[in-house]
Amino acid sequence: MKRILVTGGAGFIGSHLCSRLINEGHDVICLDNFFTGAKSNVLHLIGNPRFELVRHDVINPYHAEVDEIYNLACPASPVHYQYNAIKTIKTSVMGAINMLGLAKRVNAKILQASTSEVYGDPAIHPQDESYWGNVNPIGIRSCYDEGKRCAEALFMDYHRQNRVRIKIVRIFNTYGPNMHPNDGRVVSNFITQAIANRDITLYGDGRQTRSFQYIDDLVEGLIRVMDTDDKFIGPVNIGNPEEFTIKELAETVVRLTGSKSGFVHAKLPEDDPKQRQPDITYAKNLLGWSPQVKLEEGLKNTITYFKNLGNERNVL
Ligand code: NAD
Ligand code: UDP
Repeated sequence: MKRILVTGGAGFIGSHLCSRLINEGHDVICLDNFFTGAKSNVLHLIGNPRFELVRHDVINPYHAEVDEIYNLACPASPVHYQYNAIKTIKTSVMGAINMLGLAKRVNAKILQASTSEVYGDPAIHPQDESYWGNVNPIGIRSCYDEGKRCAEALFMDYHRQNRVRIKIVRIFNTYGPNMHPNDGRVVSNFITQAIANRDITLYGDGRQTRSFQYIDDLVEGLIRVMDTDDKFIGPVNIGNPEEFTIKELAETVVRLTGSKSGFVHAKLPEDDPKQRQPDITYAKNLLGWSPQVKLEEGLKNTITYFKNLGNERNVL
């Protein structure tokens, strides 16, 4: 049994991670400022003596005696991370400094939820971990991309300078239950639009690609990375290499929901990456990890979640 801190624990990914860690018998502190997360995501864990929910902002220092830290706190949807861009950078950079400082003080292992966005609009395809990326440092996505790149730099420097035991995971587009209906990312947008028979909003021509990973595969990957020995620091890509155009995703969602929705085109956001696909050779060889859930199966689960969603997401 370990004592584990999950920052951003009430968010989409964090809530699944907390559930899995509690089910494995660990003590979990879920720390969140509820900017994009919600208590309803972890409602089923409240009251469990091994679970603590703490309202805290990672830009401020936090102290707890823990064995492991998963640093997930940061809005992940372009709509939300651009809402207060300065706060987004602060969250990534000061959050990393505060959590690395904590890891150093209590000698905890710490895992950073980095992102495929560190590769920017990639000039090589698929992306492997040796690629340094193609990021616009002054664009509207840079608050997120450069914040996450700076966090990776900080993780490496705390490791080199202070021997902090770190793990860096570059997460590719992930979807599943517990995404917020107003999250703004493509899978939740398309499903909520399709269920309501509203037009599906394709940004640009819909020919840009993404590779979508189901949440359960990601959580398995995160835990495998955390459980590696201290020599393994990454960065390692965790994502599903099956690549789809956004138009293909829209058509699949319409078919699976039996929706009457049509398609409308909207302006392509600035600096929107044209393609994205992880090279997962490293994760396969070193962790024995590969994604198990096909897009249609994962989408069906996610559609069921959104169909059954009550009003509590709006209240809690
Ligand atoms: P999310 O927005 O659902 O979760 C983020 C959580 O962090 C929320 O609960 C939010 O309230 C909390 N948070 C934000 N700022 C905070 C702060 N200053 N202090 C404390 N808590 C704060 O997003 P998610 O998809 O669950 O993403 C979780 C992590 O994974 C993020 O770091 C994100 O960058 C990373 N990631 C996600 C994806 C993806 O496809 N979902 C891809 C790459 C990386
Ligand atoms: N997108 C879209 N319609 C939407 C939301 C997103 O066409 O309603 C596109 C977006 O332009 C991008 C892709 O879907 O090309 C993935 O967007 P998302 O915000 O989910 O994540 P990103 O990978 O861009 O961070």
